[in-house]
Amino acid sequence: MATTKGNISIHAQNIMPIIKRWLYSDKDIFIRELVSNGCDAIVKQKMVEPEAAEEYRVLVTLDPAAGELHFDDNGIGMTDEEIKKYINQVAFSGAEEFLKNYEGENKGGIIGHFGLGFYSAFMVAEKVTIQTRSDQEGATPVCWESQDGMKYKISEGSRTQRGTTITLKLAEDAKEFLEEYKVRETLNRYCGFMAQPVYFEVVKPAEEKKEAAEGEAEQTAQETETAPNTPERKHINDTPALWLKQPKDCTDEEYKEFYRKVFHVYEDPLFYVHLNVDYPFNLKGILYFPKLTNDFGTREGEIKLFSGQVFVATNIKEVIPDFLMLLKGVIDCPDLPLNVSRSFLQNDGYVKKLSAYITRKVADKLVGMFGSERETYEKYWDDIHPFVKYGCVRDAKFFDQVKDTLLYKTTKGAYLTLSEYLAKNEGKLGKKVVYASDPTRQAASITMYEQKEIDVVVLDALIDLNFVSFIEYSAGVEGLSFARVDADAATFTKEDEADDAAKEAVKAEQETLTALFKAAVGNDTLTVELKTLTDEATPALLVQDEQSRRFSDMNKIYGQSFKMPEHHTLVLNRGNAIVQRLLTAEEGEKRDLIAAQVYDLARMSTRPLEKEEITAFLSRSTKLLDMLA
Ligand code: ADP
Ligand code: MG
Repeated sequence: MATTKGNISIHAQNIMPIIKRWLYSDKDIFIRELVSNGCDAIVKQKMVEPEAAEEYRVLVTLDPAAGELHFDDNGIGMTDEEIKKYINQVAFSGAEEFLKNYEGENKGGIIGHFGLGFYSAFMVAEKVTIQTRSDQEGATPVCWESQDGMKYKISEGSRTQRGTTITLKLAEDAKEFLEEYKVRETLNRYCGFMAQPVYFEVVKPAEEKKEAAEGEAEQTAQETETAPNTPERKHINDTPALWLKQPKDCTDEEYKEFYRKVFHVYEDPLFYVHLNVDYPFNLKGILYFPKLTNDFGTREGEIKLFSGQVFVATNIKEVIPDFLMLLKGVIDCPDLPLNVSRSFLQNDGYVKKLSAYITRKVADKLVGMFGSERETYEKYWDDIHPFVKYGCVRDAKFFDQVKDTLLYKTTKGAYLTLSEYLAKNEGKLGKKVVYASDPTRQAASITMYEQKEIDVVVLDALIDLNFVSFIEYSAGVEGLSFARVDADAATFTKEDEADDAAKEAVKAEQETLTALFKAAVGNDTLTVELKTLTDEATPALLVQDEQSRRFSDMNKIYGQSFKMPEHHTLVLNRGNAIVQRLLTAEEGEKRDLIAAQVYDLARMSTRPLEKEEITAFLSRSTKLLDMLA
């Protein structure tokens, strides 16, 4: 066979620099591309020869001393003609389109997950060699070499067995791929579920090899049965891709084991949804609902996206609705056009349909469980509610599906739907839902509602702030409103004095107390009201209008630096002994200390005191004890 040289294709000159520049940060995908090409070659060979004498496999070998990585497969191989056709002429699939779309676009707009194929090797190699031998009878082995992906040399090869070995001489700036750990980790990530067996091996330096060989010889002498010739060969994809099995053939234990293995979680998931559809698109996957580890803050999900068992990326938000990112799972869409930019994916009707389908299946699961296993569903609610609520706020269709399965947990531990709550508390507060955002802190107000036999629900997740407003206008219940337990004191205020003289007396008392508290607290804008509360033991409540409180909470969450003025009203309890005593108490330090303490206690039952407030509270408490002792 004559040696030939040439240029790869007219496109390659334009493409190679782009590949190198743009994909710099994602260069480890060459491993995925080369291993998946090996798998493809095996699939082709299997069509003519389903069972071969030697196990079909792709073997990746790292040779740190030589500075090389080898990708060897015993697949179909290539003839001289095929090399020319598939390697030389097609620089990579869709080359022209690629150039058209991405020239001039900056890296940020690029998905970074192209079906780059064989040429991705040049992102890391200063020289790429293909040694291949076709399955065709009498085929001559071929050797193809190129240093830059633009010029090549073809000569007769040295391969004796059917298949292909691709050797990369790693470039100076890609030496990280000479680290065993780096290669293994990359293989695990991208090739962990590939359809053909993938193995990894590291060539030991000559001395170690000799020792190992000697050790082996000794061993062979002693126990002849075990003679491992390649002791460090690691099977990369030994966990089967469970999502490809029919749901009816998977056991609960299999799902759980898969979850533990793939996500390295030791705790079982709550439940899972197995996605399995062939038409109108091909989509398989398993989504797990993890157990909630901390009740607020951001929960990190992890959705691994595969394309025909080849890992593509984690958490691609264009394909998976963002609220589903709180889950853990695997999604496999073999037909997804991944060699395109993110902006394309965002506007692609196909991707939208995929995403809608996934959402619908998740909603189906929730609705199904609510309908047939309400008790189990309630048990999961504490863990899943932030996710479900987030989904409702984000996705109108999802909300539409699950709206009747949304639960509200009461302070007594019951789980009610909105209509159940309204029916149960009918005639008490109209269409008002009373909630606590911090049941421990707000215990005093909660107790007063409970005394009136009004259910208080707990809405303490970060998402609840948005969710409450969302439900008010989306639930389709005329006049529905949510109010926090400290939004007003009307419910537990006793009837006002009937006659005018008595009313006047209350008014005068209120004025006295207003002046007293303003001075004691050091806040001239403080609003004070005097009311008789149902609960004598509570001296005062601090109430804050629901809407303005929500507004200021929002500001806090979204990091507004300016502090909203707080429009509080201090409701003093006329029926409480301390308040009565304050009315007649002598002017002086003690009276002011008590008033300030009453104010702080009321404040503490709505929110935590801030740093200076705590300092003041503590030193005042000490002073008061000192007076008592
Ligand atoms: P794609 O895999 O999308 O076709 P690639 O650039 O990865 O694009 O590969 C181009 C072509 O080169 C393949 O379609 C195949 O025909 C051939 N090829 C690459 N690697 C191998 C291999 N290991 N064995 C046999 N043929 C291969
Ligand atoms: Mg390929």
